[in-house]
Order: sequence, then C-alpha cells, then structure tokens
Amino acid sequence: MTLYKKLLTDYNTELNHSGMNGERLATRLYELSKIGSLESGGITRLGYSTEEKQAKELVIGWMKEAGLEVTMDGAGNVFGRLEGKENGPTIMSGSHLDSVPNGGNFDGPLGVLAALEVVEAWKATGYTPPVPYEVAIFSDEEGSRFNSGLTGSEAFMGKLTNEYLDQLFDEEGKSFDEVIKTYDSNREKFLTPSSKNKDIQLFAEVHIEQGKVLEKQEQPVGVVTGIAGPAWMEVTFEGKAGHAGNTPMDDRKDPVIAAGMFVSEIEPLPRKVSDSAVATVGKLNVHPNGSNVIAQKVELMVDIRDIKEEPRDKLIDLISEKAESIAKQRGIEVTWNLNTKVKPLPIQEELQEKIAVVMKELNITPTYIPSGAGHDSMILGERIPVAMLFARSKAGISHNPEEWTSLDDCVMSVHVLKRFLERVMEER
Ligand SMILES: [Zn+2]
Repeated sequence: MTLYKKLLTDYNTELNHSGMNGERLATRLYELSKIGSLESGGITRLGYSTEEKQAKELVIGWMKEAGLEVTMDGAGNVFGRLEGKENGPTIMSGSHLDSVPNGGNFDGPLGVLAALEVVEAWKATGYTPPVPYEVAIFSDEEGSRFNSGLTGSEAFMGKLTNEYLDQLFDEEGKSFDEVIKTYDSNREKFLTPSSKNKDIQLFAEVHIEQGKVLEKQEQPVGVVTGIAGPAWMEVTFEGKAGHAGNTPMDDRKDPVIAAGMFVSEIEPLPRKVSDSAVATVGKLNVHPNGSNVIAQKVELMVDIRDIKEEPRDKLIDLISEKAESIAKQRGIEVTWNLNTKVKPLPIQEELQEKIAVVMKELNITPTYIPSGAGHDSMILGERIPVAMLFARSKAGISHNPEEWTSLDDCVMSVHVLKRFLERVMEER
C-alpha cells in the first residue's frame, strides 16, 4: 500500500475544515516519501545530497503555487514568504527535509508541510495575515552527512566558523566546500548570515514527538516545554592490565569494575536535579578488550541532558564527582572532559500557555513535554522566541522506516499551529 493510501485509510474527513485539507497533506507527504525512498519503506535523504535538494525543489514548487515568494540563502535554507496586511516583524514556521540513513517519512517533512498547509488554509478561506509569514526549510538538520547536525540553522544564525567547517568530511572523503558547491554556494556565502534572522518575531515548529507521552495520554498534539541541550562527558578509568587467571582477586586494579559501578550509580542522579533531566551511557570501549585479560582502561561516554541549564550543569557536577569517588575507592585513575556542551532551550511559558488555550478550544487536553532531541528551534531559540508542538508518534518510534503519525494527528497539529499563529499575529 502506498503511504498516501495508508494515511487515508482511517482519516476522519471531519477534520477538513477552516481551509485545511488532509488529502492534500497526505499527497505531499507521499510525494516527498518517493525521494530517497528505500525498499524498507523508509528514506535516506542526507543533508546536502541530491535527494535533499530534490525534496526542496518539490516543496519550492508547492510554495510558488501557493503564491509564496521563494528565496534561498548560502546554506541552502529555503524561505517562502507571504506578505501581511502590514509590514512588520515576520512570523516563521518550518523544519527540515533531510533524514538519517534509513529514516522515516515524518521527522522533518511534517513541520515543513504543516507550515505550508497553514498558507493553503489561509488561501482557501481568504485570510490575509496581519504581518508577513514565512515557511522555512533548514538544511542538514540531522547532520548524517558530516556527523554534525543543524548546520543550516546554525549558518542562518551566523554561528558557524571556518575552523568548524574545515573538519567536516563526508563518508566518501568529500570536504564541506566540495559538497556545498552542489548548492551553488561557497564558504563565503555559507558563512554570511542572512539578515532575515534579525527580523523574526517568532519561530514555530511542528515535529513528531519521537516518544510515547502523547500516545499514553491519548492526545494528538502536545506542547513542548523546552529542548534539552546535550552535554557529552568522556570518562576514562585507567587501572592495571593483568592475566585473568594469574592475578589474585585482592591484587587487581580493574577499571571495568569501576566503570560498572559508575554506570549503575549514575541512574538515580538525574532525579536529584529535575523531573526532565536524563543521563545515559551508551558507549563503552574496553582496552584491550580480551576475554582473559583484566582491562587496562575503559573509556565511556555519558550523555547528559535537561531543558534547563542549571540542573543540567548540576548533574554534570554530580556525575563527575561520582566518577572521582569511585576511582578513589577502587584505587585507580580517572580523567574526564566535556567534549560537547549545548545550551538547553527553555520555551517561554507565555507561548506554551497560548498553545494550550488553542488546544483546549480544539478539545485537546494540553500535555506538556520536554524535548530530549535537538531541533532547529533550539538554534533559532538562542535569539528568537520559539514555540514547538509535538504530534503523536506511534510507539514513539523515529529515525526508522516504522516512524508513523496518523493523518488525523498530522492535520490536528496544523489546526493548532494555524490558530496559534493567527492568535500571535493578531495580539501582537
Ligand atoms: Zn527532525
């Protein structure tokens, strides 16, 4: 069955009101799903690839049909502009069209198409927004091409540096400069921030939840309370290698024991700082990693996140203290350093409340959810007020061909977005 048919199977056509059209949204999700499609039903559409470019071109066509004036910046970010009754600061909404390898059909495209569907609905009902509105497509959000991420939105905000771009190579060994040539861009154009970023009053993003909270609460759409900034702590426990058979138990400096204790003692720590904090050890390297060898050292990575900076940083302290106390107790060495530390982004409560009011009008019980994953909103949010909506994800699956959001939930997220944007524009 095609994605289009699957989406329409259980669609509640009563949701086609206020200018919204579920069939149109389903058609567009389906047309996009053909670009970079795989037999698995998923897609591979890496940042700055031919496929990402084709996907942008397809959406640019729809933007133009909807009467938007389309521009592209040096980073390949696309903007479709609708003039308002008056000039004034712009309201922007959008997301990304790139994917991870073997990714799904909703992560990214839903946010772009939702932003565009708002324009279609306005057109259908003869509504002209009071201020200019732009639909945005940010390049390379997932960062799968260069093991980076968010380069489009970072370029847009003028945050990238030459040093950073110098170290980016894709799997084929192509440098960043070679790759962006395909966008008729170059280093200089790429690093010139768009003056547009100074003119935005609000950025709103619809995204799939990538978690199970809305499914549990049986709600189609939720309010995002903030975007967690990850900190990656690299920890190395160094002991003394030895023969597993000949070294008595009381004469060992085994870093694997310390690492094991450390991993299990991290688990209760996030709850001590906040309800939304998390910490994960997902990567461990044991050296020399032999079955009959007491290890010399263990390197591991702790991913530490929260939507607020203070508790997140407190958690970093608690975890590093834990590493040191365990090493001392076991008589071995430990070193640690933070090699990534992204600022978390709390979302203004006033904006969350505005979304909640709109949801109640649409008979949705507001559910407040922190975002554990990073999004373009996180980068824009450093200087621009942002609002974010999550649409329910089936079983919380994402970055996978199984990723699924029903058409009812997709359309509901557009209804909420549209009303929220109108409210913000009119109350301005
Ligand atoms: Zn995404």
